[in-house]
Amino acid sequence: MRIDRVRLYELSLPLVHSFETSSHRKSGLTHILVELTDADGRVGWGEIASPTHPYFSADTVETAWGVATRYLAPALLSTEADSPAVLERAWARIRGHEFAKSGYSIAAWDLASRARGVALADALGGVRSEVVAGVSLGIEATVDELLEQVQRQVDAGYRRVKLKIAPGWDVEPVLAVRDAFPRLLLHVDANAAFLADEASFTIFERLDAAELTMFEQPFAARDFVGHARLQQRVSTPICLDESIVDVDDIHTMLRLDAGRVVNIKVSRMGGLTAAKLAHDAAVDGGIPAWCGGMHEFGIGRAANVAISSLPGFTLPSDVSGSDKYYAEDVIAPAVIANDGVVRVPNGPGIGHEVRDDWIRAHAARTHEQHRATQEATR
Ligand code: MG
Repeated sequence: MRIDRVRLYELSLPLVHSFETSSHRKSGLTHILVELTDADGRVGWGEIASPTHPYFSADTVETAWGVATRYLAPALLSTEADSPAVLERAWARIRGHEFAKSGYSIAAWDLASRARGVALADALGGVRSEVVAGVSLGIEATVDELLEQVQRQVDAGYRRVKLKIAPGWDVEPVLAVRDAFPRLLLHVDANAAFLADEASFTIFERLDAAELTMFEQPFAARDFVGHARLQQRVSTPICLDESIVDVDDIHTMLRLDAGRVVNIKVSRMGGLTAAKLAHDAAVDGGIPAWCGGMHEFGIGRAANVAISSLPGFTLPSDVSGSDKYYAEDVIAPAVIANDGVVRVPNGPGIGHEVRDDWIRAHAARTHEQHRATQEATR
């Protein structure tokens, strides 16, 4: 693979329904789309699904834009490789910035699989023709509004619902949902909002009665010991999300019994090569994995569908239909969930057409770099 041109587009899409987590509320998202063109004129697309603010991780749209233009593009434009995994070594010495790396990784995998005429899912080693989708519901103003939202998703066919929780919005809403939907696959995600203290342990012990599939990320990202202490006191498996930035974190989690489920996010792990490696570590460790989302637009969402087709992703992934989040999307057709199931496309690459003209017309900011200029300035 030889990438000759890098183009970036900063694009904002409004959310159909505003979304609140333990850290903040959002009504729209801004992501950076990556267009890579190789020496033969073939194109691959990726998405940097970084949050705008540094509340989920250190990455923001601004930091991603900076590192994507100043470091990642030049690294990519001065290397050649025979696979995306080898190409990604071009930026191995750049620390952190997983979201920005992920956008380039998805684009490189899309391009490489299009060049081979195979579906991205097949290139990654996928085995499923469809993946079960779950939805994630934010913090609502009242328990009644939350119950209404859950009903809407159950009516739409979703089989797993995840509820965002935070101190003060924990036992009461979750038990209310469990009472109303006794058989629904349900889990909670705290986004690291609780302190690993006795008061929090008591809250999670009460939630243990709700027979949830998992408690996702109760405590701070680096607090593996706190999660291990809680896991000793509850039978519900703990799932780590923010804690898992690279494959070593999965080994730490397994060794300490700090969790028994892993949420593998392509964006948070720095791309598809890293996500595949994390999947392999989860399979080796005997724990189930699922693919979490960052409210991706269509390109990142399609990459999540592809990685979710790997055999170790045995729990429903956050790959709900685009229409739950966005009225208009950057791919055609959009990712569609029927009865809570998303079909894995067989077409080359991500298997969707990218609406490049629409993206160019709506981008708030663009950037372009060429290999020739790169070579001239070296
Ligand atoms: Mg999470």
